[in-house]
Amino acid sequence: MSRPFELDSLFRSVTTLPGVGPKNAKLFHKLTDGEKVLDLLFHKPIDFVDRRFAPKLVDAPNGKIATVKVRIESSKPAARRGLPSRVHATDGTGSIDFIFFNANKAWLEKQLPVGEVRVLSGKVEYYQGQAQMVHPDAIAKPEDRAGIETIEPIYPLTAGLTNKTVRKSIKGALGFVPELPEWLDPAHKAKHDWPDWAEAMDALHNPEDEIDLSPETHARMRLAYDELLANQLSLALVRLHQRKLNGRAWKNDGHLRKQILDNLPFKLTGAQLRSLEEIDEDMHTDARMLRLVQGDVGSGKTIVAACAMMNVIECGAQAAIMAPTEILARQHAESFLPWLEVTETPYVILTGRDKGKAREKILEQIKSGKAKVVIGTHSLFQESIEFADLGLAVIDEQHRFGVQQRLQLSQKTKGTDVLLMTATPIPRTLTLTAYGDMEVSKLDEKPPGRIPIDTLLIPREKIENMIEGIERQIKTGARAYWVCPLVEDSETLDLQAAEARYDILKEKFGKQVGLIHGRMKADEKDEVMGQFARGEIQILVATTVIEVGVNVPEATIMIIEEAERFGLAQLHQLRGRVGRGGDKSFCFLIYNTKLGKTAKERLQIMRDTEDGFVIAEKDLELRGGGEILGTRQSGLPVFKLADLNAHSELLITARDDTKLILHNDENLDSERGKALKTLLYLFEQDQAILKLRAG
Ligand code: ADP
Ligand code: MG
Repeated sequence: MSRPFELDSLFRSVTTLPGVGPKNAKLFHKLTDGEKVLDLLFHKPIDFVDRRFAPKLVDAPNGKIATVKVRIESSKPAARRGLPSRVHATDGTGSIDFIFFNANKAWLEKQLPVGEVRVLSGKVEYYQGQAQMVHPDAIAKPEDRAGIETIEPIYPLTAGLTNKTVRKSIKGALGFVPELPEWLDPAHKAKHDWPDWAEAMDALHNPEDEIDLSPETHARMRLAYDELLANQLSLALVRLHQRKLNGRAWKNDGHLRKQILDNLPFKLTGAQLRSLEEIDEDMHTDARMLRLVQGDVGSGKTIVAACAMMNVIECGAQAAIMAPTEILARQHAESFLPWLEVTETPYVILTGRDKGKAREKILEQIKSGKAKVVIGTHSLFQESIEFADLGLAVIDEQHRFGVQQRLQLSQKTKGTDVLLMTATPIPRTLTLTAYGDMEVSKLDEKPPGRIPIDTLLIPREKIENMIEGIERQIKTGARAYWVCPLVEDSETLDLQAAEARYDILKEKFGKQVGLIHGRMKADEKDEVMGQFARGEIQILVATTVIEVGVNVPEATIMIIEEAERFGLAQLHQLRGRVGRGGDKSFCFLIYNTKLGKTAKERLQIMRDTEDGFVIAEKDLELRGGGEILGTRQSGLPVFKLADLNAHSELLITARDDTKLILHNDENLDSERGKALKTLLYLFEQDQAILKLRAG
């Protein structure tokens, strides 16, 4: 099955619209993240200009948008460049001057010929008692008056595009909106009085009043629901497919796990035990496990992963754990080492660094099954690596591992149980959009004995005072991370900022300062990390490469410059690098004093709580879902029509609807099922449709 032909007009390039050339197409791409007619249609207006007010000139108030009908009396072209052209007109009750800068004379004469009647719309202003309109927004002959939109929607723009251009193109696009088969449940649709899709599209772009811009209009609710339904349906389809792939019921006796636990210097927390019970239950039945372990930084996910991995090792199969970065993979290896030794489990470490013969040797051990545990980076699964018998794949720091990659993984690991682990406390709604109804185990209890971290907000002007304080700490042997600002998405600029800070600190602290950044080679990074871990350097200046997972329990100070530039989840991650040992820890968030209210509030949240879930929920409230992790690369879906704050209830309904749909019509063969396939194509969930065909 391929995309239904009804959708063709929506999937054509915007250049098929009247008046849109390649240049505008590029700008539209920048604006809407796509170049299809559909991308334009999904671009929502955020405001409108009301041109309904059509007073007589004598009644036209200062500063208001008005649409006036006048006779042109005289036209005075600009005396010289820089001065305006002036067109004088009257309507019998009063007079007005239309002012144009840099107007072409011929154009002006054609637009506003002396002696003729015209309708103009724009803002009326008084200058020395004379009504004026500078650059009217619209000019029409009286018989074409309808061509002036009485309510003109205002769209988000990008440099080079005017609202007029965007509006015109969107109106063109509306002309291509097809009638689509209805995929909504008729009762549900009727109950909420939702319009058809085409009608809703039309309403979205033709607001008639303020209220029509609210996310709660029938049209906007419908469109949001469609998007959320497509999201839930595609996640559920992928999952259904994965479930059908046979899993294995592991029959292990737990002797290796026991050896690990007996040798731990601590006891597992209640949350860790609970998560392991849930994992064991999945693994001991023959359905394939696909479970997410969600646990704040420091909640102890690593040992949970290790225990789960032993289930399959005990049965003679292999287990792999993958991290997003090389540093993290090495760190895992270090944590695992005592456990692997006590259980005498053969293992390999595989990262991008292992090349040539050494790499081949490692790959061979994985292929032959000699290596039972494989510790590596996510890229493990993007290359041709063969396992003898991979029983369990653990993916750590899941939020960097996008939905597409997850699909790839499911293709590669037939019958392998999968455990995803995320340290990013994602609010419930976002979990649902990113994972659908996936089983979740929560590590909502921190290991005992943690001393709370003191978080201080430091205005940039006070940086020197803070450094003095830190100097005293350093003298007593403390170790500090110093994280430099995130500059746009530019690694180069990040680096410059970090290097500048490094130079400054070096003057004061000399050899005690080290620098680590993303451009360094892996072994250089390791070297610096190692020095910091051993205390040979005490201040580690870093770009965000230390963001996730790094474990140096002796570090007690975290300094983050221009903290306002970071996402809260990211700040939380960074702060989680300290407070890992027994000593009191501090986090300094340095901010620019010219902060807006929301930005200030965000930092205050950081000061007030250490609970990652509270932080995530508040961040979602303040900023909206798309931005929660700071970047679009977060792997979380970005919605165009749905707004997760306003539409979170729709999401729950969409999830329930999805359950029912797939319960009754797993292959989407019914009439509604077919319409739902159209919906999936509309939102480009082709991967999910692929699963349908295969299943
Ligand atoms: P994360 O969830 O961030 O990956 P880790 O697995 O790295 O957390 O654990 C953080 C630290 O807490 C490690 O040093 C680990 O040994 C320790 N730890 C884990 N579980 C417990 C526990 N139940 N009691 C005490 N310390 C624990
Ligand atoms: Mg971890």
